[in-house]
Amino acid sequence: MKCNLCLEDKKLVKSHIIPRSFFKSEGYVAITSNAAEYKKRIPTGPYDEDILCLDCEKKFCAWDTYGNEFLNRTELPTKPFKEGDEGKDYFEAEFDYAKLKMFFLSVLWRGHHSRQEFFFEIKLDLHEKRIREMIIANDPKKPDDYSVILSKFDEDPGIISAQYTNYDRINCYRLYIPGYKAIIKVDKRPMKDERRELILSPEKKAIIFLINALESKERNVMKKRIKNYNLAHPKP
Ligand SMILES: [Zn+2]
Repeated sequence: MKCNLCLEDKKLVKSHIIPRSFFKSEGYVAITSNAAEYKKRIPTGPYDEDILCLDCEKKFCAWDTYGNEFLNRTELPTKPFKEGDEGKDYFEAEFDYAKLKMFFLSVLWRGHHSRQEFFFEIKLDLHEKRIREMIIANDPKKPDDYSVILSKFDEDPGIISAQYTNYDRINCYRLYIPGYKAIIKVDKRPMKDERRELILSPEKKAIIFLINALESKERNVMKKRIKNYNLAHPKP
């Protein structure tokens, strides 16, 4: 079968879209758009078997390892900073721009090729080829190219499927990695000023907003899906 990265006809291997290392041993409750699926526990995270050949799969290893190290092992300050004007809590952290950005872009790209319900909203169209070239060249480009904004949940809400969204009509995806939300701009136009301040950049520390999971939009999405599921599947 054809590998989606090198485009050669090769034997394809199992690819985790979100690296296995992000999933706890007892599995995760998956929250997808299909209410019937919500309860599924996925011990190792969603994977596909027909995206990449073995040689290409190996290319993702360094980014996956760094993504896991940075997001799960970096010692973030225990108390977030306060942002004066809006009163929002955030962390700042030293990071490797190329590795962290390529991690998010590679998850987005794998999500585009995945058949898993988690990622069905990701449709990169013409951007697929551009991101594929960035992956092959290991080139994260400039902060305004496929900008990434990162937030962390104070309590892990479970895994939520990736969603299309737009800010000021700029096309973006919300990508949920256990415990985190990344906004990735998939649009040639730059983010508007105030959001542009928050994007990952090699010139400064990463800014990571803290989301109160109990009050978050995501929490409501989950509650609604669970309610719909229960209505559709009444107890006998
Ligand atoms: Zn390949």
